[in-house]
Amino acid sequence: MTPNTSIDLDDLYQDIILDHYKHPRHAAKLTPEEALVDEENPTCGDQILLTLDLEDGCVTNVRYAAHGCAISVASASMMSELLTGKPEAEARQLIQDFVAVMKGEKDLDPELGDVVALEGVKKFPLRIKCATMSWHALLHALEKRKAEGVME
Ligand code: ZN
Repeated sequence: MTPNTSIDLDDLYQDIILDHYKHPRHAAKLTPEEALVDEENPTCGDQILLTLDLEDGCVTNVRYAAHGCAISVASASMMSELLTGKPEAEARQLIQDFVAVMKGEKDLDPELGDVVALEGVKKFPLRIKCATMSWHALLHALEKRKAEGVME
């Protein structure tokens, strides 16, 4: 049996997802040289280049160039909106929680704003990586920024 990869966006608050897809927040033209991380989701063809700054222990200046399906781009947009300005520890916790929600290990905090629109993706195992790719990218970018700070 071939797994069905198409998603009925009606199940997924399609308006919110499509709004972020069409108008991704914090999106930028980034070259691979400017990006801290380059993450891919080969099963779907999604890709994200991402960078950020750490200022006074907070995540700032999140910028990314995302290409791929609506879920991957919308998730990057929602993630950047949610995590910008957050203290590093809180950002890490939110990423961990979001990944746990997608794995079905946790319920999503309804206070998280537009991110709740993505919760239904967990019903489509093949698309979970579309939703989590940008969150992993941010985590890896944080680690790289921190490593740079240590070397200074
Ligand atoms: Zn995708």
